[in-house]
Order: sequence, then C-alpha cells, then structure tokens
Amino acid sequence: MNIMQCTICKKPFQSLGRKICPDCLEQIDKDFITVRDYIYEHKQTNIDKVSEETEVSKQTILHLLKEGRLILDGPEGEGILTCESCKKPINSGRLCKECQGKIASKMQTNVDTRAAAASKSKEQDNFKGSAKLGKH
Ligand SMILES: [Zn+2]
Ligand SMILES: [Zn+2]
Repeated sequence: MNIMQCTICKKPFQSLGRKICPDCLEQIDKDFITVRDYIYEHKQTNIDKVSEETEVSKQTILHLLKEGRLILDGPEGEGILTCESCKKPINSGRLCKECQGKIASKMQTNVDTRAAAASKSKEQDNFKGSAKLGKH
C-alpha cells in the first residue's frame, strides 16, 4: 500500500499513483469549472486576479495549468509557469512548445501516425465531395 501526502491539503492518503487525495480532486473538478468559465470571459488575466475573483486558491489554479486543463494567456514574456526542460515562461502544461516539439519528434507514436492518416483520408473525402458538387 502506498501512502502519500496530498500536495494540496497535506493530508496522508492511499495513493494509486496520484499526488492528490480524492477529496481535493473532487474540489478541483468543481474549481476547474469556475476558473474555466472566468478565464473564458476574461481572456487576458493573471493568476492573482483569477484567484481573487473566483476564490479558488492559486495552488489549485497552478495545478490545473500544469495539467494542461487550463490555459492562461498572460501578458507577453510573463509566463505563469516555467518549462520543466528549458525554464522558459509558459502559459500551460509542463513544457514549452519548442520542448514539446522536440519530444514529440523523438517519440512518434503509432497513435499519432494513425490520427494523421485518418485526418488525411477525411480531407480527401471532403475534396471528392466538393469535386462532385462542382460537376453538377
Ligand atoms: Zn487533499
Ligand atoms: Zn522549453
């Protein structure tokens, strides 16, 4: 059994590979909706303002940003998070676009290739469809 300390409330809990206890996860899901709606209406904002207006803790907002569930468009150069690889300021996730690109090109998975192939054939279908329409 793997007991871990929750990164949010600091309570020990039985971890199944997660760093956050079930209580906090439930709260985060609720907070996520609040914050997401706020950011949707106030696109250019900062984490202090979001936390103040939504009454969601900064820690929770940061967690959601790191998970990539939220994207906060901070003013240019003023990243809310830092890339875990090159330490450049970023707005969402754990890595900047450049580092993400580097990693993606390193490990091209079958899923990616299949997805690309699928979207390609879809494009071709669309093209065929419009060509038919053109003849009529
Ligand atoms: Zn917790
Ligand atoms: Zn980077």
